[in-house]
Amino acid sequence: MAIKGGDLAKLLPKRKGCKDCGFPTCFAFAMKVASGAEDIDKCPHLDPKVKEQIREMLAPPILPVTLGKGERALTIGEEEVVFRHEKTFYHQPGIGVLISDKESETDWERKLKAVLEMTFERIGRILRPDLAVLWAESGDEGKYLELVKKASDASADLPLVLMAPLDLALKALEVCGKDRRPLIYAVTKADLDGYFPKLKEAGVPVAVKGGLEELPEVTERLKAEGMKEIVLDTGSRNLWEVVKEQILLRRAAIKQGFRPLGYPTIVFPCFMADDLEGQYMAASALVTRYAGIVVLSDFVPEYLYPLLTLRMNIYSDPRVPMTVEAKLYEINAPSPDSPLLVTTNFALTYFAVAAEAEATKVPSWLLVQDTEGLCVLAAWSTGKFNGETIAMAVKKLGVEEKITSKKIVIPGLLARIKGELEDELPGWEVVVGPREASGLSSFLPEFAGRG
Ligand code: SF4
Repeated sequence: MAIKGGDLAKLLPKRKGCKDCGFPTCFAFAMKVASGAEDIDKCPHLDPKVKEQIREMLAPPILPVTLGKGERALTIGEEEVVFRHEKTFYHQPGIGVLISDKESETDWERKLKAVLEMTFERIGRILRPDLAVLWAESGDEGKYLELVKKASDASADLPLVLMAPLDLALKALEVCGKDRRPLIYAVTKADLDGYFPKLKEAGVPVAVKGGLEELPEVTERLKAEGMKEIVLDTGSRNLWEVVKEQILLRRAAIKQGFRPLGYPTIVFPCFMADDLEGQYMAASALVTRYAGIVVLSDFVPEYLYPLLTLRMNIYSDPRVPMTVEAKLYEINAPSPDSPLLVTTNFALTYFAVAAEAEATKVPSWLLVQDTEGLCVLAAWSTGKFNGETIAMAVKKLGVEEKITSKKIVIPGLLARIKGELEDELPGWEVVVGPREASGLSSFLPEFAGRG
């Protein structure tokens, strides 16, 4: 629950005419701090205890946790809403592969290669999985440490989860190094007294495993020891139960402001179904239902790509349309004689049109008009994409100086603007193109051949 500026102002020292924070009054400063635009440290007159109290009030209802380091560092949590449309979801869940020390070294290498190298491009973004979960399944300590060494050597910054009894996880931490910030999985209520000092000294994120009734007690004790990077596992391995618990945890943290459950979660589709289809379906449900880390038994491109695409969609900011730069793009090295296609700067539309046009091998120009991220029909219906706006873009981007063909192809969905565009661009031949980008595969070669 967001703190109100008025509530925060009541805790400030209220020194008359002070202004040391750079604001005319404590109230004005409080409003800025509450909105996140200023840091509470700018008031030098606060009692440290009050400052800590304010920091606690300002903390997001679900605290962030960062695994790994460098370019591959993964931050989860820090969420503020139950429903995406209320604001946005901030940190997409990490997608991890489970690697057991019972598997062959060939499988270790194959899975590490997959997590490090499997990438997909969609609407100009690179999608990839995030982490490896190293499971001490065999009971052979030496074998597990060998697996940890193998994973550490494979990449200096791949986020890891050390899934092992705590004694062994702490030994594994020495192998991979604390500074790569692996997640230790998992602390239970029974472990608390015996492992507190060692866990605190380790200074890395820890997962807490236990039923919903136990989790608050464990997280509060860890927090009292200064450990705030915590990941929750309710222990359930049935999809329906896990989904219900995910919803309950999110609502408790955000709607009730219940801090002891205000941490990201880890879930295990790998233990929910034997077949990969079942695992990936469970993973999809859990990506949409608040999971912080999702663990699968293997990565296969045909299942991973849709899952990563779903994750990207859920975790894109609904307040910010996906756009590309509005400009004149060259497709297949066009010449001044090549035809000009026109579309909007909605990313999905642009990439669909550009990919289809490229695939034809026909040289062409692609004029992308700024429609504030709206697709063709939505932009037209709001007056952002019509004969007048396209003509303005043609002039603004100096298209007439570069293209002598004077042939412009408009989307088939907007055949109705042909006349108005002809009026706006005298001397140009306005051609109605296909209704769908996929139609360019036959339209463009035929149009180019027409001369
Ligand atoms: S520095 Fe502190 S006491 Fe002074 S005006 Fe700002 S908030 Fe108030």
